[in-house]
Amino acid sequence: MQSEARQDPQGYDFRRCKLCGQQAAEPFCRLTGGTLQVCRHCDFHFLDHLDPLPSGNEEQPRELDEKSWKYISERLGTGEGELPWRLRLVEKYCRLPGAQCLDIGAGVGQFLLLLRAAKANGTGIEPSRLRRLFARREFDLHLEEQTIEAPQWREKYSEYFDVITLWDVIEHVNFPAETLSCAFQLLKPGGALLIDTPSRTVLPYRLSLVAARLSGGRVPLFLSSYYSALPYGHKQIFTPRQLTRLVAQAGFQILTQGAGYDELLGLRPPLLRPRSKIILVARKPVAG
Ligand SMILES: [Zn+2]
Repeated sequence: MQSEARQDPQGYDFRRCKLCGQQAAEPFCRLTGGTLQVCRHCDFHFLDHLDPLPSGNEEQPRELDEKSWKYISERLGTGEGELPWRLRLVEKYCRLPGAQCLDIGAGVGQFLLLLRAAKANGTGIEPSRLRRLFARREFDLHLEEQTIEAPQWREKYSEYFDVITLWDVIEHVNFPAETLSCAFQLLKPGGALLIDTPSRTVLPYRLSLVAARLSGGRVPLFLSSYYSALPYGHKQIFTPRQLTRLVAQAGFQILTQGAGYDELLGLRPPLLRPRSKIILVARKPVAG
């Protein structure tokens, strides 16, 4: 593809790599939601799209209409099977009763319900108003609207949390390094960070890259299904090594990383189960 100086309305120059910060990202191929940028320096892959910053003037629905309620209800089961494994992983690294936990990208609050059942104090951030309304109506849960980058979090909750979880979230945020740096500030020294995100090393993605390269970007196969310019869509997909590097750069000490909960929890992996994730646990070091 021809190099072009694409700029986001927020002023971000997509030639700048969101992982290594070098002016080395180039358009690789055109996808449904935008152009996939690939960094020549660190091979990071990201879409040339950012979610607009909340201005406070958005026309957001005040009430949860029946159509939206039905839409969210029907999708509640998706990914729900992992919630108990996620809780077990958190329990492995933190004593939950009385712990302060922050779930970033809480959805409709299902993980918070599990945390509460384990006698932890759960706080959830969810930028989607419909999901917040759903959480209130269905589970009587209050979720925070302001994302982790908002100054109020640093002002009121610096070194406050014992655990911060990002379940299927880091691939959605505008700037992953900034999100991790904010999480670092809000964790107590010794606090745990848990991340779960799709991996780029899976076969369909690798095949798609080969097809896109061989066709000069004309045949991206399944690549469009990995990225989306819809609000809160996937903006970047990591390799395990890239995510580890970013988390370490934010100041964390990596405790463990794997491709499935069975592996990290020491369970016998079921046969032929696809291992398509990066699951990572890190700790904020205790100073001195
Ligand atoms: Zn880079």
